[in-house]
Parts: sequence; C-alpha cells; structure tokens
Amino acid sequence: MLAAFGSFNVRSRRPPMLDLVPAPFDCQSCGACCSYSAEWPRFSFESDAALDLIPPALVAADLSGMACEDGRCRALAGRVGEGTSCTIYAIRPEVCRECQPGDPECLIARRAHGLPVDGMSLPQV
Ligand code: SF4
Ligand code: SF4
Repeated sequence: MLAAFGSFNVRSRRPPMLDLVPAPFDCQSCGACCSYSAEWPRFSFESDAALDLIPPALVAADLSGMACEDGRCRALAGRVGEGTSCTIYAIRPEVCRECQPGDPECLIARRAHGLPVDGMSLPQV
C-alpha cells in the first residue's frame, strides 16, 4: 500500500498535450490500495520495535494491523483519487512497502475505486 507514496500531497494536473502519452501511476493522487480492505494493511515481519513506533490510535484493536474504517486505513490522509498521503509513511508496515504501482493489488484497488488502469505507464524511478 502506498508503496511509492511520499509524505506530501500533490494533485496531478496534466497539460492537454500530455493526454497523448500514457499517464503514470501516481500514488499521491491515488491512495486506492490504502482504502480497499481492512485485510490488506496487516502486520507481518515487523519487529516489536518497529510496531511500537506506530501510534496506537492507528492500530487495529486486535493488534493485527492498521486500523481501518470501511476498508480505509486510518493513517491515510486526503481524498482517494484526488490527493492522498500516508501520515506514517516512514514507519508504515512491511506490506505497504511491498505494494508497487501497477502490480496486481494496485490494479484491483484502482478498479474498485473507478480509477483508470489501462494504458497507464509505470512511474520512473
Ligand atoms: S493503488 Fe497503485 S497507484 Fe494507487 S496508491 Fe496504491 S500502488 Fe499507488
Ligand atoms: S499505513 Fe500508510 S501506506 Fe499503509 S495502508 Fe495505511 S495509509 Fe496506506
């Protein structure tokens, strides 16, 4: 989730001439994978020390992962599909680091939110 998210919020506005080239997957104007399922941002291989850094208010009551409401991670700020950021980006769970723009989970989440997936290009890193 939010694999390529930064801790800042950027709205994506493309000049008309750029409509001729594939739009990149832009995590900062997306956030779909962080607002898809409470089953996704689960803890896995984090150390106790790493988990202790996450504010308790953002952790699920059963301590299994991030707290979510209607599938949306409580750490997600902004509006999905417009401008979002992870408020704990530097200390986000391992699963969030593994999700990459354009991977199968990304496409599932984007489709669920009605965001485009076809003809998209991967971000340049
Ligand atoms: S769904 Fe894909 S493009 Fe959107 S934030 Fe997640 S990884 Fe990035
Ligand atoms: S912790 Fe951050 S990256 Fe992970 S699901 Fe929540 S908002 Fe997304």
